[in-house]
Amino acid sequence: MNYRHAFHAGNIGDVLKHMVFARVITYLQSKPGGFRIIDTHAGLGRYDLTKGDAQRTGEWRQGVGRVLEADMPKKVAEILAPWLDVVRGMEENAKKLSVYPGSPLLARKLMREQDRLTVTELHPDDFQKLAELFAGDVHVKAIELDGWNALRGFVPPKEKRGIVLIDPAFEETNEFEKLATGLYKGWRRWGTGCFIAWYPIKDKKTVKRFYDAMSVSGIERIMVAEHFAGQARADGPMMGSGLIMINPPWTLKGELDTVLPWLTTTLAQGRGADWRVLQLTGEK
Ligand code: SAM
Repeated sequence: MNYRHAFHAGNIGDVLKHMVFARVITYLQSKPGGFRIIDTHAGLGRYDLTKGDAQRTGEWRQGVGRVLEADMPKKVAEILAPWLDVVRGMEENAKKLSVYPGSPLLARKLMREQDRLTVTELHPDDFQKLAELFAGDVHVKAIELDGWNALRGFVPPKEKRGIVLIDPAFEETNEFEKLATGLYKGWRRWGTGCFIAWYPIKDKKTVKRFYDAMSVSGIERIMVAEHFAGQARADGPMMGSGLIMINPPWTLKGELDTVLPWLTTTLAQGRGADWRVLQLTGEK
Protein backbone atom coordinates (compact mmCIF):
# COMPACT_ATOMS: atom_id res chain seq x y z
CA MET A 1 0.00 0.00 0.00
CA ASN A 2 2.04 2.93 -1.27
CA TYR A 3 -0.80 5.28 -2.16
CA ARG A 4 -1.16 8.28 0.14
CA HIS A 5 -4.05 10.59 -0.57
CA ALA A 6 -2.19 13.55 0.94
CA PHE A 7 -0.35 13.92 -2.40
CA HIS A 8 -3.65 14.37 -4.21
CA ALA A 9 -5.92 16.13 -1.71
CA GLY A 10 -8.19 18.70 -3.35
CA ASN A 11 -7.17 17.73 -6.89
CA ILE A 12 -9.47 17.49 -9.93
CA GLY A 13 -10.63 14.02 -8.85
CA ASP A 14 -11.54 15.22 -5.37
CA VAL A 15 -13.49 18.12 -6.89
CA LEU A 16 -15.79 15.77 -8.84
CA LYS A 17 -16.10 13.25 -6.00
CA HIS A 18 -16.67 15.66 -3.13
CA MET A 19 -19.01 17.95 -5.01
CA VAL A 20 -21.30 14.99 -5.83
CA PHE A 21 -20.90 13.38 -2.39
CA ALA A 22 -22.01 16.63 -0.73
CA ARG A 23 -25.01 16.96 -3.11
CA VAL A 24 -26.19 13.44 -2.28
CA ILE A 25 -25.83 13.99 1.48
CA THR A 26 -27.83 17.20 1.13
CA TYR A 27 -30.53 15.36 -0.81
CA LEU A 28 -30.85 12.73 1.93
CA GLN A 29 -31.49 15.53 4.39
CA SER A 30 -34.75 16.41 2.65
CA LYS A 31 -36.31 13.78 4.96
CA PRO A 32 -36.07 14.03 8.76
CA GLY A 33 -35.12 10.36 9.35
CA GLY A 34 -31.47 9.70 10.13
CA PHE A 35 -29.16 8.00 7.62
CA ARG A 36 -25.80 6.23 7.58
CA ILE A 37 -22.79 7.15 5.50
CA ILE A 38 -20.25 4.39 4.96
CA ASP A 39 -16.88 5.54 3.62
CA THR A 40 -14.94 2.37 2.76
CA HIS A 41 -11.57 3.93 1.76
CA ALA A 42 -11.56 6.97 3.99
CA GLY A 43 -8.01 8.39 3.95
CA LEU A 44 -6.83 10.80 6.65
CA GLY A 45 -9.97 12.92 6.72
CA ARG A 46 -8.14 16.24 6.87
CA TYR A 47 -5.22 17.48 4.75
CA ASP A 48 -2.83 20.31 5.49
CA LEU A 49 -2.15 21.98 2.12
CA THR A 50 0.62 24.20 3.48
CA LYS A 51 3.16 21.48 4.25
CA GLY A 52 4.23 17.90 3.54
CA ASP A 53 2.94 15.83 0.65
CA ALA A 54 0.05 18.09 -0.40
CA GLN A 55 2.28 21.15 -0.45
CA ARG A 56 4.96 19.31 -2.42
CA THR A 57 2.71 18.26 -5.31
CA GLY A 58 0.35 21.23 -5.13
CA GLU A 59 -2.28 19.24 -7.06
CA TRP A 60 -5.00 21.12 -5.19
CA ARG A 61 -4.04 24.32 -7.03
CA GLN A 62 -5.45 22.87 -10.29
CA GLY A 63 -8.52 21.56 -8.45
CA VAL A 64 -10.23 23.15 -5.47
CA GLY A 65 -7.85 26.13 -5.71
CA ARG A 66 -9.16 27.06 -9.16
CA VAL A 67 -12.79 26.51 -8.15
CA LEU A 68 -12.46 28.86 -5.18
CA GLU A 69 -10.86 31.59 -7.28
CA ALA A 70 -13.33 31.46 -10.19
CA ASP A 71 -16.46 33.52 -10.73
CA MET A 72 -19.46 31.26 -10.96
CA PRO A 73 -23.05 31.66 -12.11
CA LYS A 74 -25.64 31.64 -9.32
CA LYS A 75 -26.99 28.19 -10.28
CA VAL A 76 -23.51 26.66 -10.18
CA ALA A 77 -22.80 28.34 -6.83
CA GLU A 78 -26.00 26.83 -5.41
CA ILE A 79 -25.07 23.34 -6.55
CA LEU A 80 -21.51 23.59 -5.21
CA ALA A 81 -22.54 25.28 -1.96
CA PRO A 82 -22.80 22.18 0.29
CA TRP A 83 -19.19 21.21 -0.55
CA LEU A 84 -17.68 24.70 -0.78
CA ASP A 85 -19.38 25.96 2.38
CA VAL A 86 -17.59 23.20 4.31
CA VAL A 87 -14.23 24.01 2.68
CA ARG A 88 -14.60 27.77 3.27
CA GLY A 89 -16.02 27.19 6.75
CA MET A 90 -12.93 25.38 8.07
CA GLU A 91 -11.46 27.61 10.77
CA GLU A 92 -7.95 27.33 9.26
CA ASN A 93 -9.25 28.62 5.90
CA ALA A 94 -10.48 31.97 7.24
CA LYS A 95 -7.66 33.91 5.56
CA LYS A 96 -6.51 31.52 2.83
CA LEU A 97 -7.07 27.93 1.81
CA SER A 98 -4.78 25.93 4.12
CA VAL A 99 -6.69 22.79 4.98
CA TYR A 100 -8.76 20.50 2.80
CA PRO A 101 -11.51 18.28 4.25
CA GLY A 102 -11.47 14.74 2.81
CA SER A 103 -14.62 12.70 2.37
CA PRO A 104 -15.05 11.64 6.04
CA LEU A 105 -14.68 15.16 7.39
CA LEU A 106 -16.91 16.58 4.65
CA ALA A 107 -19.57 14.03 5.57
CA ARG A 108 -19.22 14.77 9.28
CA LYS A 109 -19.56 18.52 8.75
CA LEU A 110 -22.75 18.02 6.74
CA MET A 111 -24.38 15.48 9.05
CA ARG A 112 -27.24 16.26 11.42
CA GLU A 113 -27.70 15.02 14.99
CA GLN A 114 -29.61 11.93 13.80
CA ASP A 115 -27.10 10.88 11.09
CA ARG A 116 -24.18 8.47 11.54
CA LEU A 117 -20.87 7.83 9.78
CA THR A 118 -18.82 4.61 9.52
CA VAL A 119 -15.31 4.97 8.07
CA THR A 120 -12.78 2.26 7.24
CA GLU A 121 -9.12 2.74 6.31
CA LEU A 122 -6.42 0.08 5.96
CA HIS A 123 -3.17 2.10 6.02
CA PRO A 124 -2.05 2.09 9.69
CA ASP A 125 -0.61 5.65 9.68
CA ASP A 126 -3.60 7.12 7.85
CA PHE A 127 -5.97 5.20 10.09
CA GLN A 128 -4.29 6.60 13.19
CA LYS A 129 -4.82 10.17 12.01
CA LEU A 130 -8.40 9.40 11.01
CA ALA A 131 -9.11 7.85 14.41
CA GLU A 132 -7.59 10.88 16.16
CA LEU A 133 -9.75 13.23 14.09
CA PHE A 134 -12.93 11.54 15.27
CA ALA A 135 -11.84 10.55 18.77
CA GLY A 136 -14.75 10.85 21.20
CA ASP A 137 -17.27 11.58 18.45
CA VAL A 138 -20.27 9.34 19.09
CA HIS A 139 -21.61 9.99 15.58
CA VAL A 140 -18.59 8.36 13.94
CA LYS A 141 -17.25 4.82 14.02
CA ALA A 142 -13.68 4.60 12.63
CA ILE A 143 -12.37 1.10 11.98
CA GLU A 144 -8.99 -0.14 10.74
CA LEU A 145 -10.33 -2.58 8.18
CA ASP A 146 -10.22 -3.61 4.54
CA GLY A 147 -12.90 -1.46 2.91
CA TRP A 148 -14.08 -4.31 0.69
CA ASN A 149 -14.99 -6.19 3.87
CA ALA A 150 -16.96 -3.17 5.08
CA LEU A 151 -19.32 -3.77 2.17
CA ARG A 152 -20.11 -7.13 3.72
CA GLY A 153 -19.96 -6.17 7.38
CA PHE A 154 -21.84 -2.86 7.46
CA VAL A 155 -24.26 -3.10 4.53
CA PRO A 156 -27.18 -2.67 4.83
CA PRO A 157 -27.00 -0.23 7.76
CA LYS A 158 -29.77 -0.37 10.33
CA GLU A 159 -30.99 3.10 9.27
CA LYS A 160 -31.87 1.63 5.81
CA ARG A 161 -31.15 5.04 4.26
CA GLY A 162 -27.78 6.36 3.27
CA ILE A 163 -24.73 6.34 1.06
CA VAL A 164 -21.77 4.03 0.57
CA LEU A 165 -18.73 5.86 -0.81
CA ILE A 166 -16.11 3.56 -2.36
CA ASP A 167 -12.90 5.38 -3.19
CA PRO A 168 -10.11 2.84 -3.77
CA ALA A 169 -6.47 3.77 -4.29
CA PHE A 170 -6.27 2.12 -7.75
CA GLU A 171 -2.79 0.76 -7.09
CA GLU A 172 -3.56 -2.78 -8.18
CA THR A 173 -4.22 -3.86 -11.77
CA ASN A 174 -7.48 -5.64 -10.86
CA GLU A 175 -9.06 -2.70 -9.03
CA PHE A 176 -11.88 -2.27 -11.61
CA GLU A 177 -12.78 -5.98 -11.26
CA LYS A 178 -12.76 -5.59 -7.47
CA LEU A 179 -14.97 -2.53 -7.80
CA ALA A 180 -17.47 -4.33 -10.07
CA THR A 181 -17.64 -7.27 -7.65
CA GLY A 182 -17.87 -5.01 -4.60
CA LEU A 183 -20.66 -2.94 -6.11
CA TYR A 184 -22.61 -6.04 -7.10
CA LYS A 185 -22.29 -7.64 -3.67
CA GLY A 186 -23.16 -4.38 -1.93
CA TRP A 187 -26.22 -3.84 -4.12
CA ARG A 188 -27.40 -7.45 -3.56
CA ARG A 189 -27.31 -6.78 0.18
CA TRP A 190 -28.91 -3.35 -0.05
CA GLY A 191 -30.87 -2.79 -3.25
CA THR A 192 -32.17 0.64 -2.27
CA GLY A 193 -28.88 2.09 -0.99
CA CYS A 194 -27.05 4.81 -2.85
CA PHE A 195 -23.56 3.61 -3.85
CA ILE A 196 -20.98 6.04 -5.24
CA ALA A 197 -17.58 4.89 -6.45
CA TRP A 198 -14.72 6.97 -7.84
CA TYR A 199 -12.12 5.86 -10.40
CA PRO A 200 -9.33 7.51 -12.38
CA ILE A 201 -9.70 7.46 -16.17
CA LYS A 202 -6.28 6.92 -17.68
CA ASP A 203 -7.14 4.25 -20.22
CA LYS A 204 -10.62 4.68 -21.73
CA LYS A 205 -10.74 1.06 -23.00
CA THR A 206 -10.42 -0.31 -19.45
CA VAL A 207 -13.19 1.98 -18.29
CA LYS A 208 -15.41 0.96 -21.22
CA ARG A 209 -14.95 -2.72 -20.27
CA PHE A 210 -15.96 -1.83 -16.70
CA TYR A 211 -19.10 -0.03 -17.97
CA ASP A 212 -19.97 -2.98 -20.23
CA ALA A 213 -19.71 -5.35 -17.25
CA MET A 214 -21.83 -3.08 -15.05
CA SER A 215 -24.47 -2.68 -17.81
CA VAL A 216 -25.16 -6.43 -17.83
CA SER A 217 -24.74 -6.96 -14.07
CA GLY A 218 -28.46 -6.85 -13.37
CA ILE A 219 -28.00 -3.78 -11.16
CA GLU A 220 -30.70 -1.17 -11.87
CA ARG A 221 -30.42 2.64 -11.91
CA ILE A 222 -26.72 3.03 -12.63
CA MET A 223 -25.47 6.45 -13.72
CA VAL A 224 -21.91 7.53 -14.46
CA ALA A 225 -20.39 11.01 -14.58
CA GLU A 226 -16.98 11.74 -16.09
CA HIS A 227 -14.80 14.81 -16.04
CA PHE A 228 -11.54 15.48 -17.89
CA ALA A 229 -9.28 18.46 -17.33
CA GLY A 230 -7.32 17.35 -20.42
CA GLN A 231 -6.54 14.39 -22.63
CA ALA A 232 -6.61 11.04 -20.77
CA ARG A 233 -3.18 9.36 -20.93
CA ALA A 234 -2.23 5.92 -19.70
CA ASP A 235 1.33 6.96 -18.83
CA GLY A 236 0.98 10.57 -17.65
CA PRO A 237 -0.59 12.28 -14.65
CA MET A 238 -4.29 11.71 -14.08
CA MET A 239 -6.29 14.11 -16.24
CA GLY A 240 -9.76 12.69 -15.77
CA SER A 241 -11.92 10.62 -13.45
CA GLY A 242 -15.38 9.23 -13.11
CA LEU A 243 -18.06 8.33 -10.62
CA ILE A 244 -20.34 5.36 -10.93
CA MET A 245 -23.53 5.74 -8.94
CA ILE A 246 -26.25 3.23 -8.10
CA ASN A 247 -29.58 4.74 -7.03
CA PRO A 248 -28.47 8.38 -7.28
CA PRO A 249 -31.05 11.01 -6.28
CA TRP A 250 -33.32 11.83 -9.23
CA THR A 251 -32.22 15.48 -8.98
CA LEU A 252 -28.52 14.73 -9.56
CA LYS A 253 -28.55 14.35 -13.36
CA GLY A 254 -29.91 17.89 -13.84
CA GLU A 255 -27.39 19.28 -11.33
CA LEU A 256 -24.48 17.60 -13.10
CA ASP A 257 -25.68 18.86 -16.49
CA THR A 258 -25.54 22.39 -15.02
CA VAL A 259 -22.29 22.22 -13.10
CA LEU A 260 -20.02 19.97 -15.22
CA PRO A 261 -19.77 22.33 -18.25
CA TRP A 262 -18.69 25.12 -15.88
CA LEU A 263 -16.23 22.88 -14.02
CA THR A 264 -14.78 21.67 -17.32
CA THR A 265 -14.04 25.22 -18.45
CA THR A 266 -12.73 26.24 -15.02
CA LEU A 267 -10.42 23.23 -14.56
CA ALA A 268 -9.26 22.90 -18.19
CA GLN A 269 -5.54 22.30 -18.69
CA GLY A 270 -5.48 22.29 -22.49
CA ARG A 271 -6.98 20.10 -25.19
CA GLY A 272 -9.27 17.24 -24.22
CA ALA A 273 -11.15 18.98 -21.38
CA ASP A 274 -14.57 17.34 -21.41
CA TRP A 275 -17.42 15.85 -19.41
CA ARG A 276 -20.34 13.50 -19.83
CA VAL A 277 -23.14 11.90 -17.84
CA LEU A 278 -24.44 8.49 -18.92
CA GLN A 279 -27.31 6.36 -17.71
CA LEU A 280 -25.87 2.83 -17.84
CA THR A 281 -28.99 1.03 -16.66
CA GLY A 282 -32.56 2.04 -15.87
CA GLU A 283 -35.36 0.52 -13.85
CA LYS A 284 -36.88 -2.82 -14.87
N1 SAM B 1 -12.02 8.91 0.31
C1 SAM B 1 -10.91 9.80 0.63
C2 SAM B 1 -11.32 11.22 0.35
O1 SAM B 1 -12.10 11.45 -0.58
O2 SAM B 1 -10.92 12.10 1.09
C3 SAM B 1 -9.68 9.46 -0.15
C4 SAM B 1 -9.31 8.01 -0.15
S1 SAM B 1 -7.87 7.58 -1.06
C5 SAM B 1 -8.37 7.76 -2.72
C6 SAM B 1 -7.85 5.84 -0.87
C7 SAM B 1 -7.54 5.38 0.53
O3 SAM B 1 -7.79 3.99 0.62
C8 SAM B 1 -6.09 5.56 0.96
O4 SAM B 1 -6.05 6.30 2.17
C9 SAM B 1 -5.57 4.13 1.20
O5 SAM B 1 -4.69 4.05 2.29
C10 SAM B 1 -6.85 3.41 1.49
N2 SAM B 1 -6.87 1.98 1.17
C11 SAM B 1 -6.19 1.28 0.24
N3 SAM B 1 -6.61 0.00 0.21
C12 SAM B 1 -7.60 -0.11 1.14
C13 SAM B 1 -8.45 -1.15 1.57
N4 SAM B 1 -8.39 -2.36 1.02
N5 SAM B 1 -9.37 -0.88 2.51
C14 SAM B 1 -9.46 0.36 3.06
N6 SAM B 1 -8.68 1.38 2.72
C15 SAM B 1 -7.76 1.17 1.76
